[in-house]
Amino acid sequence: MPELPEVEITARLLDRALTGAEIESAVSPGINALKTFDPPLASLAGERIVGVRRRGKQLIVETTGELVLLIHLMSAGRLQLYDKRAGPRDRTSRLLVRLADGRELRLREFGSKQAAWVKLLSARELEEDGALATLGPEAWPDPPELESLLDAPRPLHTLLRDQHTIAGIGRSWVDEILWSAQLSPFKRANDLDDDERARLREAIVQSLGEAIAHYEQVVKLPIPDKLPMPLRVHRHEGEPCPRCGTTLKAVHFEDYVIAYCPACQTDGRVLKDRRLSRLLR
Ligand SMILES: [Zn+2]
Repeated sequence: MPELPEVEITARLLDRALTGAEIESAVSPGINALKTFDPPLASLAGERIVGVRRRGKQLIVETTGELVLLIHLMSAGRLQLYDKRAGPRDRTSRLLVRLADGRELRLREFGSKQAAWVKLLSARELEEDGALATLGPEAWPDPPELESLLDAPRPLHTLLRDQHTIAGIGRSWVDEILWSAQLSPFKRANDLDDDERARLREAIVQSLGEAIAHYEQVVKLPIPDKLPMPLRVHRHEGEPCPRCGTTLKAVHFEDYVIAYCPACQTDGRVLKDRRLSRLLR
Protein backbone atom coordinates (compact mmCIF):
# COMPACT_ATOMS: atom_id res chain seq x y z
CA MET A 1 0.00 0.00 0.00
CA PRO A 2 2.16 2.88 -1.10
CA GLU A 3 1.20 6.00 0.86
CA LEU A 4 3.11 9.22 1.48
CA PRO A 5 6.20 7.66 3.17
CA GLU A 6 6.50 4.84 0.61
CA VAL A 7 6.09 7.19 -2.36
CA GLU A 8 8.47 9.72 -0.79
CA ILE A 9 11.30 7.19 -0.40
CA THR A 10 10.67 5.98 -3.95
CA ALA A 11 10.92 9.54 -5.27
CA ARG A 12 14.07 10.29 -3.26
CA LEU A 13 15.95 7.15 -4.31
CA LEU A 14 14.95 7.49 -7.96
CA ASP A 15 15.79 11.19 -7.99
CA ARG A 16 19.32 10.45 -6.74
CA ALA A 17 19.79 7.61 -9.25
CA LEU A 18 18.12 9.02 -12.35
CA THR A 19 18.89 12.73 -12.54
CA GLY A 20 20.72 13.35 -15.82
CA ALA A 21 19.96 9.90 -17.26
CA GLU A 22 18.99 9.79 -20.95
CA ILE A 23 15.85 7.96 -22.03
CA GLU A 24 16.29 5.60 -24.98
CA SER A 25 12.68 4.46 -25.28
CA ALA A 26 9.44 4.15 -23.35
CA VAL A 27 6.60 1.69 -23.87
CA SER A 28 3.46 0.65 -22.04
CA PRO A 29 3.15 -3.14 -22.47
CA GLY A 30 0.21 -5.43 -21.83
CA ILE A 31 -2.98 -3.93 -20.51
CA ASN A 32 -2.60 -0.26 -21.09
CA ALA A 33 -1.96 1.79 -17.98
CA LEU A 34 -1.33 4.88 -20.07
CA LYS A 35 -4.23 7.33 -19.64
CA THR A 36 -3.03 9.88 -22.22
CA PHE A 37 -2.27 9.51 -25.96
CA ASP A 38 -0.83 12.90 -26.94
CA PRO A 39 2.13 13.35 -26.72
CA PRO A 40 2.94 9.67 -27.40
CA LEU A 41 5.35 7.76 -25.13
CA ALA A 42 7.79 7.57 -28.07
CA SER A 43 8.38 11.32 -27.72
CA LEU A 44 10.35 10.60 -24.52
CA ALA A 45 13.20 9.08 -26.59
CA GLY A 46 16.30 11.25 -26.31
CA GLU A 47 14.98 13.23 -23.32
CA ARG A 48 17.03 13.49 -20.12
CA ILE A 49 15.52 13.06 -16.67
CA VAL A 50 15.67 16.29 -14.65
CA GLY A 51 14.31 14.87 -11.41
CA VAL A 52 11.76 12.69 -9.63
CA ARG A 53 9.45 14.10 -6.97
CA ARG A 54 6.25 13.34 -5.09
CA ARG A 55 2.91 15.12 -4.74
CA GLY A 56 0.44 13.37 -2.42
CA LYS A 57 0.70 9.68 -3.30
CA GLN A 58 1.74 10.38 -6.90
CA LEU A 59 5.17 10.35 -8.54
CA ILE A 60 6.33 12.98 -11.02
CA VAL A 61 9.24 12.26 -13.38
CA GLU A 62 10.36 15.45 -15.14
CA THR A 63 12.45 15.56 -18.31
CA THR A 64 14.45 18.21 -20.19
CA GLY A 65 11.88 18.74 -22.95
CA GLU A 66 9.25 19.76 -20.38
CA LEU A 67 7.58 16.38 -20.72
CA VAL A 68 6.41 14.92 -17.44
CA LEU A 69 5.36 11.41 -16.41
CA LEU A 70 2.68 11.49 -13.71
CA ILE A 71 2.38 8.08 -12.06
CA HIS A 72 -0.12 6.77 -9.51
CA LEU A 73 0.91 3.46 -7.94
CA MET A 74 -2.63 2.92 -6.50
CA SER A 75 -2.71 0.05 -3.99
CA ALA A 76 -0.16 -2.37 -5.42
CA GLY A 77 2.21 -0.58 -7.80
CA ARG A 78 5.98 -0.13 -7.52
CA LEU A 79 8.31 2.03 -9.62
CA GLN A 80 11.51 0.01 -9.77
CA LEU A 81 14.90 0.75 -11.30
CA TYR A 82 17.00 -2.16 -12.53
CA ASP A 83 20.65 -2.17 -13.56
CA LYS A 84 19.94 -4.57 -16.38
CA ARG A 85 17.04 -5.01 -18.72
CA ALA A 86 14.65 -7.77 -17.84
CA GLY A 87 12.75 -9.70 -20.49
CA PRO A 88 9.81 -7.88 -22.06
CA ARG A 89 7.31 -10.54 -21.03
CA ASP A 90 7.01 -9.61 -17.36
CA ARG A 91 3.25 -9.67 -16.83
CA THR A 92 3.44 -7.24 -13.91
CA SER A 93 4.90 -4.43 -16.03
CA ARG A 94 2.68 -1.45 -16.88
CA LEU A 95 5.41 0.92 -18.12
CA LEU A 96 8.98 0.33 -19.28
CA VAL A 97 11.42 3.21 -19.60
CA ARG A 98 14.74 2.12 -21.08
CA LEU A 99 17.74 4.30 -20.37
CA ALA A 100 20.67 4.86 -22.72
CA ASP A 101 23.10 3.60 -20.04
CA GLY A 102 21.47 0.15 -20.01
CA ARG A 103 19.29 0.59 -16.93
CA GLU A 104 15.52 0.19 -16.97
CA LEU A 105 12.74 1.86 -15.00
CA ARG A 106 9.62 -0.27 -14.59
CA LEU A 107 6.20 0.43 -13.21
CA ARG A 108 5.12 -2.98 -11.93
CA GLU A 109 1.87 -3.92 -10.25
CA PHE A 110 1.19 -6.79 -7.89
CA GLY A 111 -2.16 -8.26 -6.95
CA SER A 112 -5.29 -8.94 -8.94
CA LYS A 113 -6.47 -5.40 -9.66
CA GLN A 114 -4.83 -3.43 -12.43
CA ALA A 115 -5.35 0.09 -11.27
CA ALA A 116 -1.96 1.83 -11.40
CA TRP A 117 -1.79 4.49 -14.09
CA VAL A 118 0.54 6.78 -16.00
CA LYS A 119 0.00 10.08 -17.80
CA LEU A 120 2.50 11.73 -20.13
CA LEU A 121 1.88 15.48 -19.95
CA SER A 122 3.54 18.75 -20.81
CA ALA A 123 4.78 20.73 -17.80
CA ARG A 124 1.88 23.16 -18.28
CA GLU A 125 -0.69 20.37 -18.44
CA LEU A 126 0.71 18.88 -15.23
CA GLU A 127 -0.29 21.93 -13.20
CA GLU A 128 -3.83 21.79 -14.56
CA ASP A 129 -4.28 18.02 -14.37
CA GLY A 130 -7.20 17.13 -12.14
CA ALA A 131 -5.22 14.42 -10.35
CA LEU A 132 -2.97 17.11 -8.88
CA ALA A 133 -5.09 20.25 -9.03
CA THR A 134 -7.75 18.82 -6.70
CA LEU A 135 -5.35 17.55 -4.03
CA GLY A 136 -5.45 19.03 -0.54
CA PRO A 137 -2.31 20.33 1.20
CA GLU A 138 0.55 17.91 1.87
CA ALA A 139 0.26 15.95 5.12
CA TRP A 140 4.04 16.09 5.55
CA PRO A 141 6.38 17.78 6.42
CA ASP A 142 4.37 20.86 7.33
CA PRO A 143 0.59 20.51 7.06
CA PRO A 144 -1.53 23.61 7.70
CA GLU A 145 -3.31 24.05 11.02
CA LEU A 146 -6.12 21.50 11.13
CA GLU A 147 -8.84 23.86 12.29
CA SER A 148 -9.88 24.76 8.74
CA LEU A 149 -9.28 21.30 7.24
CA LEU A 150 -11.19 19.28 9.81
CA ASP A 151 -14.41 21.22 10.08
CA ALA A 152 -16.73 18.59 8.60
CA PRO A 153 -18.95 16.22 10.62
CA ARG A 154 -17.16 13.21 9.14
CA PRO A 155 -15.28 10.44 11.00
CA LEU A 156 -11.56 11.15 11.35
CA HIS A 157 -10.66 7.87 9.67
CA THR A 158 -12.59 8.86 6.55
CA LEU A 159 -11.59 12.50 6.44
CA LEU A 160 -7.85 11.94 6.90
CA ARG A 161 -7.84 9.52 3.94
CA ASP A 162 -9.67 12.00 1.69
CA GLN A 163 -6.94 13.25 -0.66
CA HIS A 164 -8.93 16.41 -1.39
CA THR A 165 -8.79 17.29 2.33
CA ILE A 166 -5.16 16.41 3.06
CA ALA A 167 -2.83 14.60 0.66
CA GLY A 168 -0.76 11.48 1.35
CA ILE A 169 -2.51 9.45 4.07
CA GLY A 170 -4.14 6.08 3.31
CA ARG A 171 -5.50 3.01 5.05
CA SER A 172 -2.28 1.96 6.75
CA TRP A 173 -0.90 5.21 8.11
CA VAL A 174 -4.27 6.57 9.25
CA ASP A 175 -4.40 3.82 11.89
CA GLU A 176 -0.89 4.65 13.11
CA ILE A 177 -1.66 8.37 13.23
CA LEU A 178 -4.93 8.00 15.16
CA TRP A 179 -3.35 5.54 17.59
CA SER A 180 -0.45 7.92 18.08
CA ALA A 181 -2.84 10.83 18.74
CA GLN A 182 -5.03 8.61 21.00
CA LEU A 183 -8.16 9.50 19.04
CA SER A 184 -11.07 7.28 17.99
CA PRO A 185 -11.23 6.56 14.25
CA PHE A 186 -14.97 7.30 14.42
CA LYS A 187 -14.76 10.60 16.27
CA ARG A 188 -16.31 13.39 14.18
CA ALA A 189 -13.63 15.74 12.90
CA ASN A 190 -15.55 18.88 13.87
CA ASP A 191 -15.87 17.60 17.47
CA LEU A 192 -12.13 17.89 18.17
CA ASP A 193 -11.04 20.46 20.73
CA ASP A 194 -7.88 22.55 20.33
CA ASP A 195 -5.75 20.11 22.30
CA GLU A 196 -6.93 17.13 20.22
CA ARG A 197 -6.30 18.99 16.97
CA ALA A 198 -2.76 19.84 18.07
CA ARG A 199 -2.13 16.22 19.08
CA LEU A 200 -3.44 14.98 15.75
CA ARG A 201 -1.31 17.37 13.72
CA GLU A 202 1.79 16.35 15.67
CA ALA A 203 0.94 12.65 15.19
CA ILE A 204 0.59 13.14 11.42
CA VAL A 205 3.97 14.86 11.08
CA GLN A 206 5.74 12.48 13.44
CA SER A 207 4.30 9.18 12.15
CA LEU A 208 4.99 9.97 8.50
CA GLY A 209 8.40 11.52 9.25
CA GLU A 210 9.55 8.53 11.29
CA ALA A 211 8.47 6.14 8.56
CA ILE A 212 10.47 8.08 5.94
CA ALA A 213 13.54 8.12 8.24
CA HIS A 214 13.14 4.34 8.69
CA TYR A 215 12.99 3.78 4.94
CA GLU A 216 16.09 5.93 4.42
CA GLN A 217 17.93 3.42 6.62
CA VAL A 218 16.60 0.15 5.20
CA VAL A 219 15.38 0.63 1.60
CA LYS A 220 17.77 0.45 -1.32
CA LEU A 221 17.18 0.35 -5.09
CA PRO A 222 15.45 -1.38 -6.68
CA ILE A 223 12.48 -0.58 -4.44
CA PRO A 224 11.49 -4.03 -3.10
CA ASP A 225 8.21 -5.69 -4.10
CA LYS A 226 7.27 -5.72 -0.41
CA LEU A 227 8.28 -2.62 1.54
CA PRO A 228 9.19 -3.18 5.21
CA MET A 229 6.45 -0.91 6.61
CA PRO A 230 7.17 -0.03 10.27
CA LEU A 231 3.53 -0.38 11.36
CA ARG A 232 2.68 -0.84 15.05
CA VAL A 233 -1.13 -1.00 15.00
CA HIS A 234 -2.39 -1.52 11.45
CA ARG A 235 -2.39 -5.28 10.67
CA HIS A 236 -1.59 -5.97 14.35
CA GLU A 237 -5.11 -6.88 15.47
CA GLY A 238 -5.03 -9.32 18.40
CA GLU A 239 -1.56 -8.23 19.52
CA PRO A 240 -0.85 -6.11 22.61
CA CYS A 241 -0.98 -2.34 22.23
CA PRO A 242 2.64 -1.08 22.15
CA ARG A 243 1.63 1.70 24.57
CA CYS A 244 -0.62 0.05 27.18
CA GLY A 245 -0.66 -3.70 26.47
CA THR A 246 -4.43 -3.92 25.81
CA THR A 247 -5.30 -6.25 22.94
CA LEU A 248 -5.61 -4.29 19.69
CA LYS A 249 -9.02 -4.62 18.01
CA ALA A 250 -10.15 -4.16 14.42
CA VAL A 251 -13.26 -3.29 12.45
CA HIS A 252 -13.46 -5.03 9.08
CA PHE A 253 -14.95 -3.38 6.04
CA GLU A 254 -15.25 -4.85 2.56
CA ASP A 255 -11.87 -3.66 1.32
CA TYR A 256 -10.08 -2.34 4.38
CA VAL A 257 -9.58 -2.83 8.10
CA ILE A 258 -9.45 -0.26 10.89
CA ALA A 259 -7.17 -1.31 13.77
CA TYR A 260 -7.19 0.53 17.11
CA CYS A 261 -6.55 0.22 20.84
CA PRO A 262 -9.80 0.31 22.89
CA ALA A 263 -7.99 1.57 26.01
CA CYS A 264 -6.02 4.34 24.28
CA GLN A 265 -8.56 5.46 21.67
CA THR A 266 -12.21 4.63 22.40
CA ASP A 267 -12.58 4.88 26.22
CA GLY A 268 -12.54 1.11 26.48
CA ARG A 269 -15.38 0.60 24.02
CA VAL A 270 -15.01 -2.18 21.46
CA LEU A 271 -16.45 -0.97 18.18
CA LYS A 272 -18.93 -3.10 16.32
CA ASP A 273 -17.26 -5.39 13.82
CA ARG A 274 -19.24 -4.74 10.65
CA ARG A 275 -18.17 -8.00 9.02
CA LEU A 276 -19.52 -10.01 11.94
CA SER A 277 -22.71 -8.02 12.25
CA ARG A 278 -23.40 -8.59 8.55
CA LEU A 279 -22.94 -12.33 8.94
CA LEU A 280 -25.20 -12.45 11.97
CA ARG A 281 -28.02 -10.47 10.43
ZN1 LIG B 1 -3.26 1.13 24.17
